[in-house]
Amino acid sequence: MEYRGPRDALFFYLFINGVFISLQNKEEVLLDMKASGAELGWLKSPDENGWEISQQVLNGSLHYNYFVCNVESPSGQENWLRTTFIQRQPAASRVFVELRFIVRDCNTFDGASQTCKETFNLFASESDVDIGTSFRKGQFRKVATIAPDEISHRGEIKINTETKVVDGLSRKGFYLAFQDIGACVALFSVRVYYKTCPTTVKGLASFPETVASGEALRKVTGACVENAVSEDQPLIFCTTDGEWVVPMGQCQCLPGYEPVDDACRECSSGSFKSAVSSGRCEACPENTEPSSPGALICPCKEGFYRAPTDPSSTACSGLPSEPLNLAATMTTAAAGRLTLSWNPPLDTGGRSDLVYSVTCERCEGASCQSCGERVRFEPASSGLHETVVTVSELEPHLNYTFGVEARSGVSQFSSRRASSSVTTTLHFTDPPKVTSIQLDERSTTSLSLSWSVRKPVPITTRYQLMFRRKDSIEGTDPAVTTYTVLFLDKNTVQVTDLSPATAYVFRVQVLNAEGNPGSDGLEREFSTMTKDPSQANTSVILGAAVGGGAMLLVVVVVLLLHRRRRSSHTRQGPEDTYFSSPEQLKPLKTYVDPHTYEDPNAAVLRFASEIHPNHITKQKVIGAGEFGEVYRGILKVPGRKETAVAIKTLKPGYSEKQRQDFLSEASIMGQFTHENIIRLEGVVTKFKHAMIVTEYMENGALDKYLKDHDGEMSSFQLVGMLRGIAAGMKYLSDMSYVHRDLAARNILVNINLECKVSDFGLSRVLEDDPEGTYTTSGGKIPIRWTAPEAIAYRKFTSASDVWSFGIVMWEVMAFGERPYWDMSNHEVMKSINEGFRLPAPMDCPSAVYQLMVQCWLQDRAKRPRFPDIVSILEKLLKSPESLKAIADFDPRVSIRLPSTSGPDGSPFRSVSEWLESIKMSQYSANFSCAGIISMDQVLQMKTEDIKNIGVRLPGHLKRIAYSILGLKDQTSTLSVFAV
Ligand code: AMP
Repeated sequence: MEYRGPRDALFFYLFINGVFISLQNKEEVLLDMKASGAELGWLKSPDENGWEISQQVLNGSLHYNYFVCNVESPSGQENWLRTTFIQRQPAASRVFVELRFIVRDCNTFDGASQTCKETFNLFASESDVDIGTSFRKGQFRKVATIAPDEISHRGEIKINTETKVVDGLSRKGFYLAFQDIGACVALFSVRVYYKTCPTTVKGLASFPETVASGEALRKVTGACVENAVSEDQPLIFCTTDGEWVVPMGQCQCLPGYEPVDDACRECSSGSFKSAVSSGRCEACPENTEPSSPGALICPCKEGFYRAPTDPSSTACSGLPSEPLNLAATMTTAAAGRLTLSWNPPLDTGGRSDLVYSVTCERCEGASCQSCGERVRFEPASSGLHETVVTVSELEPHLNYTFGVEARSGVSQFSSRRASSSVTTTLHFTDPPKVTSIQLDERSTTSLSLSWSVRKPVPITTRYQLMFRRKDSIEGTDPAVTTYTVLFLDKNTVQVTDLSPATAYVFRVQVLNAEGNPGSDGLEREFSTMTKDPSQANTSVILGAAVGGGAMLLVVVVVLLLHRRRRSSHTRQGPEDTYFSSPEQLKPLKTYVDPHTYEDPNAAVLRFASEIHPNHITKQKVIGAGEFGEVYRGILKVPGRKETAVAIKTLKPGYSEKQRQDFLSEASIMGQFTHENIIRLEGVVTKFKHAMIVTEYMENGALDKYLKDHDGEMSSFQLVGMLRGIAAGMKYLSDMSYVHRDLAARNILVNINLECKVSDFGLSRVLEDDPEGTYTTSGGKIPIRWTAPEAIAYRKFTSASDVWSFGIVMWEVMAFGERPYWDMSNHEVMKSINEGFRLPAPMDCPSAVYQLMVQCWLQDRAKRPRFPDIVSILEKLLKSPESLKAIADFDPRVSIRLPSTSGPDGSPFRSVSEWLESIKMSQYSANFSCAGIISMDQVLQMKTEDIKNIGVRLPGHLKRIAYSILGLKDQTSTLSVFAV
């Protein structure tokens, strides 16, 4: 095509325009010459002989262009063409000017090569107002020289496209101007635009359309799409070219939703998603019921469970079956040792976290009792992963019944036990026996003895040495013989303060595991040396000092010796009568009050084992007791498995009395062996810093645990916890131990949600309990947990513990709510005496509430006993449908009545005051963000609305909904449930 002046140029432009121009959605056009047609109205200076407009009809449409071609004027050219006022968008400080033009080759104009130019200039001028037709070139700044990439030779048309940037714009608008200085130019198109980053969704966050900044990246904050959240505010950057780069703060779909395209879609039925994540919904795992749409978890089928630590994606598991082929094999009968072994259950319930625990019962005739601490299990009696355990320190001729139970992470959810048992009797071939007593040294006032025992003897063997003067002592009843008794843990002794030249009868017996002497004692006579004349006459046995052996306890006993028996003196002599009296032989199954020990240290030594502090590593403070800090730590006794422990310490500066009080807890705890009583590992008493070491309970105190998991546990789980506490209390009451301070704060919870009774003080009972209040009957009492007779006249019995257990039941079912809310102690006592009782907590099974109310009967004889409580709770757990009937619940009563009014009785002044009163302050922001700022609006809310503002936990949802219900019924009055 040959170029024939401006008209040709216009045609060409249109043609090109039709083929190549495409609109980019991220370009916001401020001016388009092509679109303006004849209305362009651009200013020319000079008006004549400079730039000219031409038009052409093409396909029925008019098209315009500007051209100038004064190449041969010797006087030089300066022709201006100025656009109309271009309004600027406030954020668009940088605009693009796209020009389409042709420039004619100067060589095609004969004789004009001196004056002809092949470039023209682009100018711009900013202004806040449209200055109309006034044009002053001095106000324009040069933006660029526009040079063609290709000039058009004769017979050619070469269209150039150039885009120039006009930057740093700040005023309301601007003009562009094209300065021709003697070229042959046709301007086909001028398009002025700025760039934007378009509205977009990236990483489930939506970002608004944003004008590209002139200088650098522009930071833009976004918002997560519906049903998505992110920890950090989503961010992205808009480049100067209008491109989004570097998105940050990825949004993730809420539980129950999965990302599909740029949105979060509800999980379909039969699938679930339990966490905030960018993952997809997963199909319900094995042994679950199909879920409904939007499910967070697929519920387990009946008879299948999930352990608290199981991820929701794992299959629900069944309970294990019982261990197989349990057998007891005698290894060393002489040392009272046997090996229990068994095979894993046939059915593990699909779990790999099986552990075994071994129980031991010893029967002497018809009387059976738990073996307690009297036998030793290696490596341990519970938490076993292996299927073999060694049991030692067994006694001869007793029947032992061993049970082995297989438990998995889900066993806690069912009362069904998977255990096998085996009964065996040990016939010791060679019980330890004293075979000889030797005199090692003697003086006028002392005798040093040692004795031999038929091997093998456990190193822990202790001995009883009794001695008396051989002749009768003046002034004593002949029917009575006074013995001095020493308990020794070595087979040597030096007895001092004896009379010279006097014969003494010594009898040595091996003590059995219960601390009672066996029937195998040996008796010998030894005399002190003849009196040294220089020494005074000592005629009375004053006692004994011990040299070689460690003397543990000295008591003087009076033996009533019947002549008849005396005359038939045998090994089973009168001394044995004392020790084998029915009282003495009675199995140690009642609790021994450490106070009855004259020396409290002896009580600690008897009931607790000493640990070397080097075997204890403290890791972290987890609580504060009355005597000092409580630590989490590790106990590593050589030859034993490392165990996590809690370490109670005694703070420096203690008095001896405080030390004894501190250790008395160990003396008490050490007497108990039960899976629902906190287990004592041992004590440190021989070093400056006394410590009590117990098993570690990962979830800490029950009251706090419940508050932290409000609404997250089912009634079945809560009743399971109560069953454990009741079982522990049954054990204590069987041992005639009265706890006196049973409350959820004194129950500890482990990782498997097993509950164990703790806090066994003595003189410190209640002293360290912040709930302890001084009463008129003296002493500190936690009023809200204590039975009326114990408050009134300190009648503390297992029946008063049952009352406290009822309060613990209430605390548990109310997720750690404070009993009687903020009523004063005085009000509590008054209303109890008037026959009022706590009302049923929300969602409390009727059967559970009835049991609580029974625990609170005024007549303590009518209250259930712990064995009854355990069996009632077990029955409820065996038939979970019995938990379905829910006790009547009155929100106005059960949720701290101020839900109908503020603290001073007036209606609530604000939404936050109301939320605080029902302990739901954590949702204040949800209410305000949803625009719920007045109590009138609150009253209009339906359950669905509460859910929609983000209250998802069922317990919280109910609490808020019930409270609103209560608010609506202003006629009700505050009352505590009367029984
Ligand atoms: P106490 O002096 O027994 O009341 O203990 C004070 C606090 O220490 C308790 O409230 C628990 O939080 C914590 N604590 C005590 N014993 C244990 C334990 N065996 N395992 C875990 N935490 C414990």
